[in-house]
Amino acid sequence: MGESNHIEVWKRCLQIIKNNVPDAVYLKWFEPVKPISLEDQLLKIEVPSDAHMRQLEEMPLIDILAKTLKRVIGNDVKLEYTIRFPRTSVNYPHQNTQVASNRPIPFPRNDKENINPFVIPGIQKLTIEPNLNPKYSFDNFIEGVCNRLARTAGVQVAQSPGNNPFNPLFIHGGSGLGKTHLSQAIGLRVKELHPEKIVLYVSAHTFKTQFQNAAVGNKIPDFTHFYEQIDVLIIDDVQFFNTAGTQNAFFHIFNYLQQAGKQVILTSDAAPGNLQGIETRLVQRFRWGLSAELLPPNYETRVKILKAKSANEGIVLSDEVVDYLATKITGSVRELEGTILTLLAHSTLNREDITLELAKKVTKQIVNIDSSELSLDKIRSVVCDYFKITPETIVSKTRKREIVQARQITMYLVRNLTKASLASIGSQMGGKDHATVLHACSTVSDLIDTDKTIRRYVSDLERQLRPGK
Ligand code: ADP
Ligand code: MG
Repeated sequence: MGESNHIEVWKRCLQIIKNNVPDAVYLKWFEPVKPISLEDQLLKIEVPSDAHMRQLEEMPLIDILAKTLKRVIGNDVKLEYTIRFPRTSVNYPHQNTQVASNRPIPFPRNDKENINPFVIPGIQKLTIEPNLNPKYSFDNFIEGVCNRLARTAGVQVAQSPGNNPFNPLFIHGGSGLGKTHLSQAIGLRVKELHPEKIVLYVSAHTFKTQFQNAAVGNKIPDFTHFYEQIDVLIIDDVQFFNTAGTQNAFFHIFNYLQQAGKQVILTSDAAPGNLQGIETRLVQRFRWGLSAELLPPNYETRVKILKAKSANEGIVLSDEVVDYLATKITGSVRELEGTILTLLAHSTLNREDITLELAKKVTKQIVNIDSSELSLDKIRSVVCDYFKITPETIVSKTRKREIVQARQITMYLVRNLTKASLASIGSQMGGKDHATVLHACSTVSDLIDTDKTIRRYVSDLERQLRPGK
């Protein structure tokens, strides 16, 4: 059997299956399956959901599937499932609309035969996309006093997930200090050291949307079951768990995973005790393990980060320039990164060398605002200048994408840089309620992790608003 003919082979299987099962069953359970690869009689297939896989593993479907695969591929055939992790929850879990759901499968059931031939250890295996970005590794995560405790705990968690005193590991700290990076680094290291473990990284925002969609579609048991299979569950930015339903679902999943000896890693912008709008019973759970804070980097760490990041971009900064930047830019790692990217852009676009002059120029573009005086008004006007829109437009009701984005970024910055309450931010941003503000904050926070342009906007703006003292 050739190596790359999985598509052909699966087509042949489908033909056989089609002739042997009712159309409705074929359409609902077999047609949505995608072949991924075939090697040494190991067929990998992708199924739309965990529920789908479980159904295929049941009699009678497993019987026809096993017989067909043996016939087409060979007697030693093995099957491996992959469930595509739903990034947006729109299709969570997948439903084939051509067939009414929950229709009983019209097969005669023979209970004596109800032995799943695939449930032989090592034959059937489940994989779930861990949703990790390889660039967020420990190798790229620079150590400093500011992150030592969290980093060390992270390394230990990755070595023996679920079996360490730090469960859950709760990482907290301000925006741009490395929470997403460190939590993903732990996931990546687990995959390296324990490839058999099921790791999943998910933002609290996505978790919440998935849960809400599951609730609408009566799929909460599927949702819960999906999460209960994870060995190492990483949930980023749990401060966005603001609804009772999501918190309740998470509470049960958390308890289940803890009892099963699985590892949970959480990040948040606040220490457990300072989380707002999170139920006490959850906060208590968060305190079971270790909570470790990420602090803004000190001068030495800033120097190390600037050197490493510039080398990574293929540029050389003189000691003078590094010293200047490390002295001036004191906010977050994201700001340091943003500065390097701005310098890089200048030097390539204008063919300028990165001199101290250029470094000063770039740093000077920073409006000098004393951060103790930062107010919503000031932030809003800096954002408006930056995007070249008027203060009236930004608080208007328009749904134009750029305006909505600027408005959301403003709310995110005000939330992170001032002590304004959600309700007061909402009322000053055109009469929005607190849920809208929170939604805006979690959207921007997600985009920072996935969208380079937005990351750049936010770091530029943060730099302007929070200049080095
Ligand atoms: P947070 O999730 O806390 O807002 P991120 O993890 O997104 O912050 O970090 C912001 C940026 O800074 C990312 O590009 C990340 O790679 C980088 N970063 C943060 N901390 C470090 C570190 N200690 N070493 C290297 N890069 C870091
Ligand atoms: Mg983050």
